[in-house]
Amino acid sequence: MAADFLSRLARLGIRREQDLLLHLPLRYEDETRLVPIASLLPGQSAQVEGVISRSEVVGRGRRSLQVELRDDSGAIGLRFLNFYGSQVAQLARGRRVRASGEVRGGLLGLEMVHPRYRLVEEGAPLPTRLTPVYPSAAGIGQASLRRAVLQALRIHHWAETVPSACLEALHLPAPMAALRFLHEPPAAADLGALEDRSAPAWRRIVFDELLAQQLSLRRARAARADRRAEPLRDAGLVGRLLAALPFRLTGAQARAWREVAADLSAVQPMNRLVQGDVGSGKTVIAALAAAQAIGSGCQAALMAPTEILAEQHFRKLGPWMAAIGARIAWLSGSLKESRKREVRERVAAGEVDLLVGTHALIEDSVVFPRLGLAIVDEQHRFGVAQRLALRGKGEALPHQLMMSATPIPRTLAMTYYADLDVSVIDELPPGRRPVLTRLVSDARRDELIERVRAAAAAGRQVYWVCPLIEEAAEDESVATRGTAAGDEAGKAREAAAAASGNGRRRAASALKQREALELQTAIDTHALLQEALAPIPVGLVHGRLAAAEKQAVMDGFSRGELQVLVATTVIEVGVDVPNASLMVVEHAERFGLAQLHQLRGRVGRGTADSVCVLMYRGPLSPTARARLKTMHETSDGFEIARRDLELRGPGEFLGARQSGVALLRFADLERDADLAAAARECAARMLEGDQATVDAHLDRWLGGREEFLKA
Ligand code: ADP
Ligand code: MG
Repeated sequence: MAADFLSRLARLGIRREQDLLLHLPLRYEDETRLVPIASLLPGQSAQVEGVISRSEVVGRGRRSLQVELRDDSGAIGLRFLNFYGSQVAQLARGRRVRASGEVRGGLLGLEMVHPRYRLVEEGAPLPTRLTPVYPSAAGIGQASLRRAVLQALRIHHWAETVPSACLEALHLPAPMAALRFLHEPPAAADLGALEDRSAPAWRRIVFDELLAQQLSLRRARAARADRRAEPLRDAGLVGRLLAALPFRLTGAQARAWREVAADLSAVQPMNRLVQGDVGSGKTVIAALAAAQAIGSGCQAALMAPTEILAEQHFRKLGPWMAAIGARIAWLSGSLKESRKREVRERVAAGEVDLLVGTHALIEDSVVFPRLGLAIVDEQHRFGVAQRLALRGKGEALPHQLMMSATPIPRTLAMTYYADLDVSVIDELPPGRRPVLTRLVSDARRDELIERVRAAAAAGRQVYWVCPLIEEAAEDESVATRGTAAGDEAGKAREAAAAASGNGRRRAASALKQREALELQTAIDTHALLQEALAPIPVGLVHGRLAAAEKQAVMDGFSRGELQVLVATTVIEVGVDVPNASLMVVEHAERFGLAQLHQLRGRVGRGTADSVCVLMYRGPLSPTARARLKTMHETSDGFEIARRDLELRGPGEFLGARQSGVALLRFADLERDADLAAAARECAARMLEGDQATVDAHLDRWLGGREEFLKA
């Protein structure tokens, strides 16, 4: 294959010729049959053949090429809005054309707009196979993709890797048979079963994919069992910290802590995720783990995804660390270079026991002589590579503790996190009040402002949240899950566009523009509220503020000097101001579910009854409507995560967006739950058998990307 073509294929994630085998069609076109024109119905997709009876370029300005195609039964219009001069010549009166596309009812009878077409001789044979339509990218045509795939199918032969005992019960075809079927289905194939992926050939591919994932996760787990970490066993500081806390652990916290403590004292590195809904009290688990590490003579690091959150941790943990005589320090990108150097030097000299910060922690210049524990808060917000980097900071492998308020549905956790132990904090600290959620159209903004005034007058504190960049981020995530579930052509096109470098650049600059725009929204909203609510003090906090300014505003709000805080989503995670009991979210329709849940978790932390107002601007898309409805109906983080998964597919939960690796391309864990279970069993069996077969299977599916699955 030409090197130049292969390099273009890299945009589609195809790096080796054999990767083409798994570049499977998004859908198919049936060009094996011709439909008599007179029998066409609007809405139908069909292929027709006839002779051009009329052809003209019509309209001024935006011209279109209008062709009439006639067969023995009748005539249909073909319309081209963008066309080349050569097409006008090609589609001249008297030419015989085969055209396929969707039939529409036009002004002057039925028509096809931009049909695919081909000039043919009378009696030219029809294809005997369905025509695959592949995910593609700029500069890669369908025809050349098809040729390349067929060539790869001739050259590469994938032998069976799966023991027949695993396959029999499932009635699945052999891998090559499945691949040939999917790339070139016979005319008689059941198009519906191909489309919804219930065809045995599809199920075989999905099974193989799930199997590859299980094999690699189990291998990673076995490898971890062979690694050594410093066992952290001294619980002296833990006891002191527990005594110094202003509260008692909830039952769920105590359980999670026991699990973490047991892992820490082992010689294998811990790899544990603590999941707990917003406000369930995960931070104290991190503090206890740090105390155990420090008590055992090691250093600990805590990394959080935003500066505000990291800073909050630092402030919360400060007094706790002081109470046990541990030295805590703070590192973030926004510190002055000289200050950063000083912190790094103290860390390197072993004079810091717990370092808290943002991504700055994983820069090469940060060196821990005795890193025993790496804590990652809101782990799903980090890319896989970043998590791996933090873990790689010590001389030996540190224990790793991750925390997340975005619960991972069980089906996902079992499949993706075979190498991760999970503790769940499924209980909120006592005294929490449920938050009442109301949906309000933004036509009622004035009414709402009055409510805010009344709340503030009554001594309550209010968040007013303006949206930031979520929409663009969601568009991008399409790229990583474009081939996962429920594809239609539109998604495929988006995926293709985003997969190309151009698409990414465009997305990045669109992101910048949107960021600027929304920053402006926050600034405008602040001005408006300040005027409308005077003399009630209104603060403003957003991502572009310098760290010190941000902190000053947050402090003012924490101390109650500012009663209303206008904020972008910088407050999304972790911010803890118990007296705040009213939240207004502007343009709630633009936020993702997980984000709305996180935001809402900022209220309902004190003793007052709390209200979260989701203000939206219609018309709402069906997904936005479903999101808002979910928020209104439930406050259970797990239920929200489950519905979110339904709405968005799994990529988002797993940080796939950041890592750029689509973890599952074909499988859908809800739809393919039976295959996932079978794959788990089969993986266990295969790992007891011939390892070369396991290697061969993994090579087909992962080809060197295994590292990403381990994080
Ligand atoms: P999250 O799980 O969202 O990170 P935090 O750790 O920030 O939650 O805890 C939320 C709030 O609850 C904090 O103010 C924390 O001090 C408090 N808290 C945590 N555990 C308890 C407890 N067992 N009893 C009372 N308050 C608690
Ligand atoms: Mg937290």
